[in-house]
Amino acid sequence: MSKVHPLARDAVKAIVPYASARSSMSGGAVWLNANENALAPAYQLDGTFNRYPSCQPKAVIDGYAAYAGLAAEQVLVSRGADEGIELLIRSFCEPKQDSITICPPTYGMYAISAESNQTSVNKVLLKNNERLDLPGIFATSPKLVFICSPNNPTGDLIPREDIIAVLEHFKDQALVVVDEAYIEFAPEASVVSLLSRYPHLVILRTLSKAFGLAGLRCGFTLAAPEIINALKKMIAPYPIAEPVAQIAAQALSPTGIAQMQQSVATINALRDDFITLAASLPGINKVWPSNANYVLLQVSDAAACVNALIAEDILIRNQSSQLGLSQVVRVSIGSPAEMQRLAGAMQRYFQPNQRETA
Ligand SMILES: *Cc1c(COP(=O)(O)O)cnc(C)c1O
Repeated sequence: MSKVHPLARDAVKAIVPYASARSSMSGGAVWLNANENALAPAYQLDGTFNRYPSCQPKAVIDGYAAYAGLAAEQVLVSRGADEGIELLIRSFCEPKQDSITICPPTYGMYAISAESNQTSVNKVLLKNNERLDLPGIFATSPKLVFICSPNNPTGDLIPREDIIAVLEHFKDQALVVVDEAYIEFAPEASVVSLLSRYPHLVILRTLSKAFGLAGLRCGFTLAAPEIINALKKMIAPYPIAEPVAQIAAQALSPTGIAQMQQSVATINALRDDFITLAASLPGINKVWPSNANYVLLQVSDAAACVNALIAEDILIRNQSSQLGLSQVVRVSIGSPAEMQRLAGAMQRYFQPNQRETA
């Protein structure tokens, strides 16, 4: 790592830079390592860009509010859901004083944003990688509890009754943040209907996954107006560039939503086929059930598996460093052609002595 300037804050010097899926890519033709959507539609831009954009573009806010069944006052748009995570921590956690609670194995950015705000992280492992450890969570005193459902990287849905138990416990004490980045792949599991009952519930959403717009950097925070207003004080004056607003508004139009739902149906079917294949291969010790556009696999040697696929120009992600997991790889669901290439490569790696099936 290159040296950090001596005048930088101690907290900044201590940070280990986040290795994103993109930064660890070394070429490769088939990208199945960042849960992106390979079936993305193309978009058009028009007009000039000489004016500063609106902080919260009305067409985007109204579009998302209509899509989520909420009022505009309950919606914040930001540079990806990642900025929503950061805004929540910066707005609600006093540095060096408050903490957040997370349930590993889970999405990495909660801990990273906490660290950069000098906020400590209570880690309460999922039970069996699927249920929340409620007594463990209740033993912490955080300002924010992060629950990811479907959970990245396991793909599990967190049971609604567990989320409700956490909401009941932390009334008037902490915000409960449910990260629904992948909810379009299992829309019936959304807890958006609980917003009217629990004013301390916050839901994170994104256009990066099912909508196929990871390159756009556009995400949403859904919550009571008082929470949204706190976040608006902390957000940059012009977080959403005009081209981003134009494309997001197109994605949230009835046509855009119908396209998204069609690609979700395709991806869910490809995922189920891939799970069937993976479960049949010797050397794959566990296949997690998935409610999203990725599948977690336990293998005997995760690094060797990743490297064998890299040799065939296919990138998947080693998730073995996650707390509570070992020798696991996460495979994002790509296009039909990409999944066919992946199937061939996996058969060659896991069944080297067998002739490939056609
Ligand atoms: C991808 C992802 C995000 C971040 O989404 P962006 O909108 O691209 O910042 C948030 N949470 C989870 C669980 C994710 O997998």
